Amino acid sequence: MAHALVALGSNVGNRRQTLDDACRDLTATPGIDVVRTSRWYETSPVGGPGGQHVFLNGAALLETSLAPLALLDALQAVESTHGRVREIAWGPRTLDLDVLLYDDLVLQSQRLTLPHPRLSYRKFVLEGAVKIAGAMRHPRIGRTLDELWQHLAKAPHYVAFVGHLGGFRMQFAAEAADAAGASLVEATADDVAPFETLSSLNGLLPSQVLQFVNARAAAVTSSLTAAGDRWVVDDGWWSDEFRELAECAGMIGLPAEIAVPPTPRLIARLITSQSSNDAPSSGLPEVVLDISRREDALMEFAAALEAAH
Ligand code: ADP
Ligand code: MG
Repeated sequence: MAHALVALGSNVGNRRQTLDDACRDLTATPGIDVVRTSRWYETSPVGGPGGQHVFLNGAALLETSLAPLALLDALQAVESTHGRVREIAWGPRTLDLDVLLYDDLVLQSQRLTLPHPRLSYRKFVLEGAVKIAGAMRHPRIGRTLDELWQHLAKAPHYVAFVGHLGGFRMQFAAEAADAAGASLVEATADDVAPFETLSSLNGLLPSQVLQFVNARAAAVTSSLTAAGDRWVVDDGWWSDEFRELAECAGMIGLPAEIAVPPTPRLIARLITSQSSNDAPSSGLPEVVLDISRREDALMEFAAALEAAH
């Protein structure tokens, strides 16, 4: 028997009735037991066309003998029963059933991605999920749902881009910030090496690294202060190496006062459809953006900021 965590959503018709009925339908499906459900709660629509009704959302923990794809078939059958017609992406729907987690399975196929690709940063999904399965672990990120939820509640509105080193990422980050109405971390002083130079720390003197890290940390902090409640977008990220550098600064003869920048609430990872996303996880909520579909990637980014706000 596997444990599957499912998200439920409805924003058309009698939403409460639909979600209640969907749970009954799931219980009636051979190979599925509904172990627990969250309460149903209202959330604002994110990412789709404007003018949609408010959603009613919730989560259900299932015990199932169905394989992942068979479970997806079963969920889609229940969606159809409730008159779900797939029309517009993220558009209105009588019933949406998504598989968030299936044990600790990581899977990427035509029909099914596990964990659900947007689970890690969507507050409107995690809100219900943590109530019934907070100790389940996101197998890619390596954090429990409780930990992800806490992180989203506490971390500043700071999102950093990773992947595709170089000018392209900087340019895309600027465009994405603009499209999402967020502010970009201001460029640091001219004499400070940009992120791309830092990809090879080899060529840099420790003092240059220190100068860069400090200038960048100061820029992030002042951008966050200036932005108030709005998002601040960074075109690069302080990986753990910088933190380690900060921690062992004294030992390797650097002045101790390295400013450690805040941890991003969200990582935006740039990929192309050719390159599968098998990079090591950042350990933070991640939105994956396929830049070979530029317009979609910009929309996805803006929706992610909304969902993680
Ligand atoms: P969304 O839930 O993103 O608003 P849909 O419910 O229309 O959109 O789903 C679109 C497609 O997503 C489905 O046809 C399904 O094959 C695919 N899909 C991929 N991964 C999952 C998942 N974890 N749970 C549910 N559907 C998924
Ligand atoms: Mg769905």
